[in-house]
Amino acid sequence: MAGSSSIIVVGGGIAGTMTALHLQRRGEQVTLIDRWEPGHARAASTDYNRVIRAISGRDEFYTRWARDARQRWLELQAESGQNLMYECGCLILATEGHCHWEDATADTFDKVGVPYHRFSQQEITARFPQFKADDIAYALYEPEAGLLMAHRCVITAIDLFKKAGGLVKRGHVSTDADERPMLDGKPLEADVIIIATGAWAADMFPRTIKPISAIIGINVLYTSTPDGSDAFDMEKMPCWIDHGQGSFGIPSSEGSGVKAAIVIPDKIDLDNDERLIRRQSLNRTRSYIQRRLPALAGEKVVDSKFNQVILTPDTHFVVDWHPQHSNVLFAGGCSGHLFKHGPTFGDFVAGVAVRDYGTADRFKLGARKKLSPKESPSGR
Ligand SMILES: Cc1cc2nc3c(=O)[nH]c(=O)nc-3n(C[C@H](O)[C@H](O)[C@H](O)COP(=O)(O)OP(=O)(O)OC[C@H]3O[C@@H](n4cnc5c(N)ncnc54)[C@H](O)[C@@H]3O)c2cc1C
Repeated sequence: MAGSSSIIVVGGGIAGTMTALHLQRRGEQVTLIDRWEPGHARAASTDYNRVIRAISGRDEFYTRWARDARQRWLELQAESGQNLMYECGCLILATEGHCHWEDATADTFDKVGVPYHRFSQQEITARFPQFKADDIAYALYEPEAGLLMAHRCVITAIDLFKKAGGLVKRGHVSTDADERPMLDGKPLEADVIIIATGAWAADMFPRTIKPISAIIGINVLYTSTPDGSDAFDMEKMPCWIDHGQGSFGIPSSEGSGVKAAIVIPDKIDLDNDERLIRRQSLNRTRSYIQRRLPALAGEKVVDSKFNQVILTPDTHFVVDWHPQHSNVLFAGGCSGHLFKHGPTFGDFVAGVAVRDYGTADRFKLGARKKLSPKESPSGR
């Protein structure tokens, strides 16, 4: 399809903004519609930070995408002059007896050529004394991984999109009984309509998206760094993944405090829940911090986030055309790992939208099955 089609992107999270930006830069005329102001606090893309890492178990596809995205984030950072990404590295802690995913990640890194180090328990403690690693067999350290300043990334993408001539509008897109996108009681009209509404897509598309999705709430705590110490700042500490404990975290970035999340799937009502952290989660995250990062025991919670993930059974994203509406394209399926891929994902979706190529098999709607932890990019 040559440039200058009318394209509507619904949803201004990282999936929608990056798709809109790439389409606008291809010469299409793009309007982005969101229910709320892009960057608003309910979106999955809004938080201080998100981890960017190539670490994906045996999944070469996402490993390569993450490497490609890293390069693109650096380019967007240079272009915008905004601090979007900090390369503080990422450590994956392999728990004694449960090292399949970490072993597979090392094999994939060797194949793809991702720089990494393998540290013994003693080396972890020597290099990163913040971590108590007595139950850890070894760790992989990816030095070119790090964190993205998530909210700033979304706002920067919106700014670049507007500068390229894109339009941003406020509106609540609904669907009729045939899952046709509607706005203000009328069908949305455009050559292509891209649905990037994150977790909201499930209720909007009860026949197409709901059957392949589960929505969970995740509680995240930010804990103060010790008074007078910079040991937990991103200059001194990497992001980490702690599969054995179902946890991950990010060092303090730009004063955020140390972020830690225990993934305890929680119910969430996307529109009606107040976004306050749950007491049970608070207690479990606190005891995790006391055990894994003992120097933070007694430090106070300075911020928190209760946010959602839409999970597909195989944790692969969704980029596919609606089976009944040939101009409606889905772009999402977060599965807890989409943010980092933002620019690569947006460019890919743009190409599918203008029919330069078809989507990847893994992103198609249709039968999806749960992967074993060994096969899964997330290891869960
Ligand atoms: C706690 C947590 C930690 C995470 N950590 C990481 C990480 O470290 N690294 C990583 O890569 N990923 C991570 N993720 C996943 C990542 O944040 C998400 O995959 C990504 O942000 C999803 O973006 P999205 O654009 O699909 O959805 P969203 O950001 O939710 O955006 C959807 C947008 O659509 C709009 N919308 C919804 N319905 C409508 C409608 N009917 N009409 C108009 N607009 C509508 C919403 O207002 C919203 O702005 C994490 C997620 C969570 C929750």
